[in-house]
Amino acid sequence: MSSNTEHITCLIIGSGPAGYTAAIYAARADLKPVMYTGLTPGGQLTETTEVDNFPGYPKGITGPELMEDLKAQAERFGTQVRFGLVTKADLKATPKRLWIDETTEITADTVIISTGASAKWLGIENETRLRMNAGGVSACAVCDGFFFKNQDVAIVGAGDTAAEEATYLSKLCKKVYMIVRRGEGEMRASKAMQHRVRNTANIEILWDSETADILGKEAVEGAIIKNNKTGTSREIKITGFFVAIGHKPNTDIFKGQLTMDELGYLQIIPGSTKTNIEGVFAVGDCADKTYRQAVTAAGSGCMGALDAERYLGAAALH
Ligand code: NDP
Repeated sequence: MSSNTEHITCLIIGSGPAGYTAAIYAARADLKPVMYTGLTPGGQLTETTEVDNFPGYPKGITGPELMEDLKAQAERFGTQVRFGLVTKADLKATPKRLWIDETTEITADTVIISTGASAKWLGIENETRLRMNAGGVSACAVCDGFFFKNQDVAIVGAGDTAAEEATYLSKLCKKVYMIVRRGEGEMRASKAMQHRVRNTANIEILWDSETADILGKEAVEGAIIKNNKTGTSREIKITGFFVAIGHKPNTDIFKGQLTMDELGYLQIIPGSTKTNIEGVFAVGDCADKTYRQAVTAAGSGCMGALDAERYLGAAALH
Protein backbone atom coordinates (compact mmCIF):
# COMPACT_ATOMS: atom_id res chain seq x y z
CA MET A 1 0.00 0.00 0.00
CA SER A 2 1.61 3.28 -1.05
CA SER A 3 1.41 6.40 1.09
CA ASN A 4 -0.81 8.15 -1.46
CA THR A 5 -3.44 5.38 -1.52
CA GLU A 6 -6.85 7.05 -1.21
CA HIS A 7 -8.70 6.25 2.00
CA ILE A 8 -12.51 6.20 2.04
CA THR A 9 -14.73 6.08 5.12
CA CYS A 10 -17.70 4.47 3.40
CA LEU A 11 -17.28 2.76 0.06
CA ILE A 12 -20.39 1.73 -1.86
CA ILE A 13 -19.97 -0.80 -4.65
CA GLY A 14 -22.74 -0.76 -7.26
CA SER A 15 -25.27 1.83 -8.39
CA GLY A 16 -28.74 0.29 -8.31
CA PRO A 17 -31.56 1.42 -5.99
CA ALA A 18 -29.81 -0.28 -3.04
CA GLY A 19 -26.50 1.50 -3.65
CA TYR A 20 -28.03 4.94 -4.20
CA THR A 21 -30.27 4.68 -1.15
CA ALA A 22 -27.27 3.63 0.94
CA ALA A 23 -25.44 6.65 -0.50
CA ILE A 24 -28.25 9.08 0.39
CA TYR A 25 -28.30 7.89 4.01
CA ALA A 26 -24.50 7.64 4.34
CA ALA A 27 -23.99 11.12 2.87
CA ARG A 28 -26.58 12.66 5.17
CA ALA A 29 -24.82 10.97 8.12
CA ASP A 30 -21.58 12.65 6.98
CA LEU A 31 -19.83 9.37 6.13
CA LYS A 32 -18.58 10.98 2.88
CA PRO A 33 -19.53 8.00 0.73
CA VAL A 34 -17.77 7.19 -2.50
CA MET A 35 -19.63 5.00 -4.95
CA TYR A 36 -18.14 2.97 -7.77
CA THR A 37 -20.93 2.41 -10.26
CA GLY A 38 -19.86 -0.82 -11.95
CA LEU A 39 -20.20 -1.32 -15.69
CA THR A 40 -23.95 -0.62 -15.82
CA PRO A 41 -24.45 2.66 -13.94
CA GLY A 42 -27.96 2.54 -12.53
CA GLY A 43 -28.08 -1.27 -12.60
CA GLN A 44 -30.88 -3.51 -13.83
CA LEU A 45 -33.53 -0.76 -13.84
CA THR A 46 -31.77 1.04 -16.65
CA GLU A 47 -32.73 -1.93 -18.81
CA THR A 48 -36.44 -1.76 -18.04
CA THR A 49 -39.01 0.64 -19.40
CA GLU A 50 -41.81 1.89 -17.16
CA VAL A 51 -41.53 1.42 -13.41
CA ASP A 52 -45.04 1.59 -11.99
CA ASN A 53 -44.48 0.04 -8.59
CA PHE A 54 -41.91 2.34 -6.98
CA PRO A 55 -43.80 4.32 -4.32
CA GLY A 56 -43.99 8.04 -4.88
CA TYR A 57 -44.51 8.04 -8.64
CA PRO A 58 -48.29 7.93 -9.16
CA LYS A 59 -47.89 8.26 -12.92
CA GLY A 60 -44.99 5.81 -13.15
CA ILE A 61 -41.46 6.64 -14.22
CA THR A 62 -39.00 5.06 -16.62
CA GLY A 63 -36.22 2.96 -15.10
CA PRO A 64 -33.42 5.24 -16.41
CA GLU A 65 -35.20 8.38 -15.12
CA LEU A 66 -35.69 6.82 -11.69
CA MET A 67 -32.00 6.00 -11.51
CA GLU A 68 -31.03 9.54 -12.59
CA ASP A 69 -33.26 10.92 -9.81
CA LEU A 70 -31.69 8.61 -7.23
CA LYS A 71 -28.20 9.60 -8.42
CA ALA A 72 -29.04 13.31 -8.22
CA GLN A 73 -30.43 12.82 -4.71
CA ALA A 74 -27.28 10.97 -3.58
CA GLU A 75 -25.03 13.65 -5.12
CA ARG A 76 -27.05 16.46 -3.56
CA PHE A 77 -25.75 15.38 -0.15
CA GLY A 78 -22.16 15.00 -1.34
CA THR A 79 -21.81 11.38 -2.54
CA GLN A 80 -18.96 11.04 -5.00
CA VAL A 81 -20.22 8.84 -7.82
CA ARG A 82 -17.40 7.41 -9.91
CA PHE A 83 -17.53 5.19 -12.97
CA GLY A 84 -15.38 2.15 -12.29
CA LEU A 85 -15.38 -1.51 -11.39
CA VAL A 86 -14.07 -3.03 -8.19
CA THR A 87 -12.03 -5.93 -9.54
CA LYS A 88 -10.34 -7.26 -6.39
CA ALA A 89 -10.87 -6.99 -2.66
CA ASP A 90 -9.10 -7.90 0.55
CA LEU A 91 -11.92 -7.40 3.01
CA LYS A 92 -10.20 -9.06 5.95
CA ALA A 93 -7.45 -6.42 6.00
CA THR A 94 -7.71 -3.37 8.28
CA PRO A 95 -8.50 -1.02 6.67
CA LYS A 96 -10.13 -2.99 3.85
CA ARG A 97 -8.18 -2.94 0.58
CA LEU A 98 -9.83 -2.82 -2.81
CA TRP A 99 -8.67 -2.37 -6.37
CA ILE A 100 -10.50 -0.38 -9.03
CA ASP A 101 -10.27 -1.45 -12.67
CA GLU A 102 -7.39 -3.76 -11.67
CA THR A 103 -5.03 -0.84 -11.17
CA THR A 104 -5.94 1.75 -8.54
CA GLU A 105 -5.76 0.62 -4.92
CA ILE A 106 -7.99 2.24 -2.31
CA THR A 107 -8.65 1.52 1.36
CA ALA A 108 -11.95 1.77 3.22
CA ASP A 109 -13.25 1.63 6.79
CA THR A 110 -16.63 0.29 5.72
CA VAL A 111 -17.83 -1.33 2.52
CA ILE A 112 -21.45 -1.54 1.43
CA ILE A 113 -21.82 -4.13 -1.31
CA SER A 114 -24.74 -3.46 -3.65
CA THR A 115 -23.50 -5.23 -6.76
CA GLY A 116 -26.93 -6.68 -7.63
CA ALA A 117 -27.71 -9.72 -9.69
CA SER A 118 -27.98 -10.20 -13.40
CA ALA A 119 -30.87 -11.98 -15.03
CA LYS A 120 -29.87 -14.92 -17.21
CA TRP A 121 -31.05 -14.79 -20.80
CA LEU A 122 -31.49 -17.44 -23.48
CA GLY A 123 -28.99 -15.74 -25.77
CA ILE A 124 -31.19 -15.66 -28.88
CA GLU A 125 -30.49 -12.67 -31.17
CA ASN A 126 -34.13 -11.50 -31.32
CA GLU A 127 -34.39 -11.80 -27.55
CA THR A 128 -31.58 -9.27 -27.13
CA ARG A 129 -32.95 -6.96 -29.83
CA LEU A 130 -36.54 -6.91 -28.52
CA ARG A 131 -35.32 -6.53 -24.96
CA MET A 132 -33.12 -3.57 -25.80
CA ASN A 133 -35.83 -1.72 -27.72
CA ALA A 134 -38.47 -2.39 -25.05
CA GLY A 135 -40.35 -4.57 -27.51
CA GLY A 136 -41.93 -6.91 -24.99
CA VAL A 137 -39.09 -9.15 -23.79
CA SER A 138 -38.60 -8.95 -20.04
CA ALA A 139 -37.04 -10.81 -17.13
CA CYS A 140 -39.48 -9.44 -14.56
CA ALA A 141 -43.18 -10.29 -14.65
CA VAL A 142 -43.93 -8.24 -11.56
CA CYS A 143 -42.35 -5.17 -13.22
CA ASP A 144 -43.72 -5.55 -16.74
CA GLY A 145 -46.67 -7.96 -16.62
CA PHE A 146 -49.14 -5.12 -16.31
CA PHE A 147 -48.34 -3.93 -19.86
CA PHE A 148 -49.76 -7.21 -21.20
CA LYS A 149 -53.15 -7.09 -19.53
CA ASN A 150 -55.67 -9.34 -21.34
CA GLN A 151 -53.03 -10.44 -23.85
CA ASP A 152 -51.31 -13.76 -24.55
CA VAL A 153 -47.74 -14.12 -23.24
CA ALA A 154 -45.09 -16.79 -22.77
CA ILE A 155 -42.66 -17.44 -19.94
CA VAL A 156 -39.56 -19.63 -20.14
CA GLY A 157 -38.30 -21.55 -17.13
CA ALA A 158 -39.42 -24.21 -14.70
CA GLY A 159 -38.04 -23.13 -11.35
CA ASP A 160 -39.87 -21.41 -8.50
CA THR A 161 -39.42 -17.99 -10.11
CA ALA A 162 -40.96 -19.09 -13.41
CA ALA A 163 -43.84 -20.81 -11.61
CA GLU A 164 -44.46 -17.81 -9.38
CA GLU A 165 -44.28 -15.37 -12.30
CA ALA A 166 -46.51 -17.56 -14.49
CA THR A 167 -49.10 -17.51 -11.71
CA TYR A 168 -48.75 -13.73 -11.41
CA LEU A 169 -49.15 -13.30 -15.18
CA SER A 170 -52.15 -15.66 -15.29
CA LYS A 171 -54.08 -13.16 -13.19
CA LEU A 172 -53.43 -10.33 -15.65
CA CYS A 173 -53.13 -11.99 -19.01
CA LYS A 174 -55.57 -13.91 -21.14
CA LYS A 175 -53.25 -16.86 -21.62
CA VAL A 176 -49.80 -17.83 -20.42
CA TYR A 177 -47.64 -20.38 -22.21
CA MET A 178 -45.02 -21.83 -19.88
CA ILE A 179 -42.08 -23.15 -21.89
CA VAL A 180 -40.34 -25.96 -20.00
CA ARG A 181 -37.30 -27.68 -21.51
CA ARG A 182 -37.72 -30.88 -19.49
CA GLY A 183 -40.54 -33.41 -19.54
CA GLU A 184 -43.58 -33.73 -17.34
CA GLY A 185 -42.49 -34.93 -13.89
CA GLU A 186 -39.07 -33.27 -14.18
CA MET A 187 -40.03 -29.71 -13.36
CA ARG A 188 -37.65 -28.06 -10.93
CA ALA A 189 -40.16 -25.86 -9.08
CA SER A 190 -41.39 -26.94 -5.65
CA LYS A 191 -44.37 -29.30 -5.63
CA ALA A 192 -46.67 -26.61 -4.27
CA MET A 193 -45.75 -24.17 -7.04
CA GLN A 194 -46.06 -26.90 -9.68
CA HIS A 195 -49.49 -27.78 -8.38
CA ARG A 196 -50.54 -24.16 -8.71
CA VAL A 197 -49.42 -23.71 -12.32
CA ARG A 198 -50.84 -27.07 -13.38
CA ASN A 199 -54.18 -26.15 -11.90
CA THR A 200 -54.48 -22.68 -13.37
CA ALA A 201 -56.84 -22.82 -16.31
CA ASN A 202 -55.15 -20.19 -18.47
CA ILE A 203 -51.59 -21.52 -18.07
CA GLU A 204 -50.61 -24.02 -20.76
CA ILE A 205 -47.36 -25.83 -20.04
CA LEU A 206 -45.36 -26.78 -23.12
CA TRP A 207 -43.18 -29.68 -21.96
CA ASP A 208 -39.88 -30.72 -23.62
CA SER A 209 -39.91 -27.35 -25.29
CA GLU A 210 -37.26 -24.83 -26.22
CA THR A 211 -37.51 -21.42 -27.82
CA ALA A 212 -36.06 -21.55 -31.32
CA ASP A 213 -36.87 -17.89 -32.08
CA ILE A 214 -38.89 -14.88 -31.02
CA LEU A 215 -40.87 -13.19 -33.78
CA GLY A 216 -41.71 -9.53 -34.31
CA LYS A 217 -40.05 -6.46 -35.80
CA GLU A 218 -40.71 -3.64 -33.34
CA ALA A 219 -42.52 -5.71 -30.71
CA VAL A 220 -43.06 -9.38 -29.90
CA GLU A 221 -45.67 -11.02 -32.14
CA GLY A 222 -44.94 -14.70 -31.56
CA ALA A 223 -42.35 -17.38 -30.88
CA ILE A 224 -41.21 -20.59 -32.52
CA ILE A 225 -41.22 -23.40 -29.98
CA LYS A 226 -39.34 -26.58 -30.72
CA ASN A 227 -40.13 -29.89 -29.06
CA ASN A 228 -36.74 -31.35 -28.17
CA LYS A 229 -38.11 -34.95 -28.05
CA THR A 230 -39.95 -35.03 -31.36
CA GLY A 231 -38.02 -32.30 -33.21
CA THR A 232 -41.27 -30.67 -34.34
CA SER A 233 -41.82 -26.91 -34.17
CA ARG A 234 -44.90 -24.79 -33.64
CA GLU A 235 -45.59 -21.09 -33.67
CA ILE A 236 -47.39 -19.42 -30.78
CA LYS A 237 -48.94 -15.96 -31.04
CA ILE A 238 -47.91 -13.80 -28.10
CA THR A 239 -47.19 -10.13 -27.38
CA GLY A 240 -44.99 -10.58 -24.33
CA PHE A 241 -42.06 -12.92 -23.75
CA PHE A 242 -40.79 -13.41 -20.20
CA VAL A 243 -37.55 -15.13 -19.28
CA ALA A 244 -37.28 -16.64 -15.78
CA ILE A 245 -34.33 -18.98 -15.99
CA GLY A 246 -32.50 -17.68 -12.94
CA HIS A 247 -30.35 -14.81 -11.80
CA LYS A 248 -26.67 -14.69 -11.05
CA PRO A 249 -25.62 -12.50 -8.13
CA ASN A 250 -22.57 -10.38 -8.95
CA THR A 251 -20.44 -11.61 -6.09
CA ASP A 252 -17.61 -13.57 -7.74
CA ILE A 253 -14.86 -11.24 -6.49
CA PHE A 254 -15.85 -11.88 -2.87
CA LYS A 255 -15.61 -15.70 -3.07
CA GLY A 256 -13.53 -17.18 -0.29
CA GLN A 257 -13.99 -14.09 1.92
CA LEU A 258 -17.70 -13.55 2.36
CA THR A 259 -20.15 -16.30 3.26
CA MET A 260 -22.52 -17.00 0.38
CA ASP A 261 -25.04 -19.69 -0.50
CA GLU A 262 -24.54 -22.25 -3.25
CA LEU A 263 -25.89 -19.80 -5.84
CA GLY A 264 -23.54 -17.01 -4.77
CA TYR A 265 -26.03 -14.85 -2.82
CA LEU A 266 -24.24 -13.12 0.08
CA GLN A 267 -25.45 -14.28 3.46
CA ILE A 268 -26.31 -11.65 6.01
CA ILE A 269 -27.22 -11.82 9.66
CA PRO A 270 -31.05 -11.81 9.63
CA GLY A 271 -32.55 -8.46 10.56
CA SER A 272 -29.38 -6.63 9.50
CA THR A 273 -27.12 -6.19 6.49
CA LYS A 274 -24.03 -7.51 8.29
CA THR A 275 -21.89 -10.06 6.50
CA ASN A 276 -19.42 -12.41 8.19
CA ILE A 277 -16.76 -9.66 8.06
CA GLU A 278 -17.12 -6.68 10.39
CA GLY A 279 -17.61 -3.41 8.57
CA VAL A 280 -18.78 -5.11 5.36
CA PHE A 281 -22.49 -4.90 4.60
CA ALA A 282 -24.51 -6.47 1.77
CA VAL A 283 -27.67 -4.86 0.43
CA GLY A 284 -30.07 -5.33 -2.47
CA ASP A 285 -30.24 -8.22 -4.91
CA CYS A 286 -26.69 -9.53 -4.26
CA ALA A 287 -28.06 -10.71 -0.90
CA ASP A 288 -31.73 -11.28 -1.77
CA LYS A 289 -32.99 -14.07 -3.98
CA THR A 290 -36.56 -13.83 -2.72
CA TYR A 291 -37.97 -10.33 -3.24
CA ARG A 292 -35.68 -8.67 -5.83
CA GLN A 293 -37.73 -5.48 -6.13
CA ALA A 294 -36.39 -1.94 -6.50
CA VAL A 295 -38.20 -0.85 -3.37
CA THR A 296 -36.96 -3.74 -1.22
CA ALA A 297 -33.43 -3.11 -2.53
CA ALA A 298 -33.76 0.57 -1.63
CA GLY A 299 -35.00 -0.36 1.86
CA SER A 300 -32.04 -2.63 2.47
CA GLY A 301 -29.69 0.08 1.15
CA CYS A 302 -30.98 2.35 3.90
CA MET A 303 -30.34 -0.41 6.44
CA GLY A 304 -26.78 -0.87 5.11
CA ALA A 305 -25.93 2.80 5.61
CA LEU A 306 -27.40 2.79 9.14
CA ASP A 307 -25.42 -0.37 9.96
CA ALA A 308 -22.23 1.24 8.59
CA GLU A 309 -22.84 4.40 10.62
CA ARG A 310 -23.34 2.38 13.83
CA TYR A 311 -20.25 0.30 13.12
CA LEU A 312 -18.13 3.44 12.66
CA GLY A 313 -19.65 5.01 15.77
CA ALA A 314 -18.83 1.94 17.87
CA ALA A 315 -15.31 1.71 16.39
CA ALA A 316 -14.68 5.37 17.29
CA LEU A 317 -15.44 4.62 20.96
CA HIS A 318 -12.67 1.97 21.17
P1 NDP B 1 -33.64 -21.95 -10.76
O1 NDP B 1 -32.17 -22.03 -11.05
O2 NDP B 1 -34.19 -22.68 -9.61
O3 NDP B 1 -34.45 -22.45 -12.04
C1 NDP B 1 -34.10 -22.04 -13.32
C2 NDP B 1 -35.02 -22.72 -14.29
O4 NDP B 1 -34.73 -22.23 -15.59
C3 NDP B 1 -34.86 -24.24 -14.35
O5 NDP B 1 -36.10 -24.84 -14.49
C4 NDP B 1 -34.01 -24.44 -15.59
O6 NDP B 1 -34.30 -25.63 -16.28
C5 NDP B 1 -34.49 -23.32 -16.46
N1 NDP B 1 -33.47 -22.94 -17.44
C6 NDP B 1 -32.18 -22.59 -17.20
N2 NDP B 1 -31.55 -22.27 -18.35
C7 NDP B 1 -32.48 -22.44 -19.33
C8 NDP B 1 -32.46 -22.29 -20.73
N3 NDP B 1 -31.35 -21.86 -21.38
N4 NDP B 1 -33.58 -22.56 -21.44
C9 NDP B 1 -34.72 -22.95 -20.82
N5 NDP B 1 -34.81 -23.12 -19.48
C10 NDP B 1 -33.70 -22.87 -18.75
O7 NDP B 1 -33.94 -20.36 -10.69
P2 NDP B 1 -35.15 -19.60 -10.00
O8 NDP B 1 -34.92 -18.17 -10.35
O9 NDP B 1 -36.44 -20.19 -10.38
O10 NDP B 1 -34.92 -19.79 -8.46
C11 NDP B 1 -33.69 -19.41 -7.83
C12 NDP B 1 -33.76 -19.77 -6.35
O11 NDP B 1 -34.69 -18.91 -5.69
C13 NDP B 1 -34.25 -21.20 -6.10
O12 NDP B 1 -33.56 -21.71 -5.00
C14 NDP B 1 -35.70 -21.01 -5.78
O13 NDP B 1 -36.24 -22.06 -5.00
C15 NDP B 1 -35.69 -19.68 -5.05
N6 NDP B 1 -36.99 -19.00 -5.16
C16 NDP B 1 -37.88 -19.16 -4.14
C17 NDP B 1 -39.11 -18.57 -4.21
C18 NDP B 1 -40.04 -18.76 -3.08
O14 NDP B 1 -39.73 -19.51 -2.19
N7 NDP B 1 -41.18 -18.11 -3.09
C19 NDP B 1 -39.54 -17.77 -5.36
C20 NDP B 1 -38.54 -17.69 -6.39
C21 NDP B 1 -37.33 -18.30 -6.27
P3 NDP B 1 -33.80 -27.08 -15.77
O15 NDP B 1 -34.71 -27.42 -14.63
O16 NDP B 1 -34.02 -27.89 -16.98
O17 NDP B 1 -32.37 -26.91 -15.40
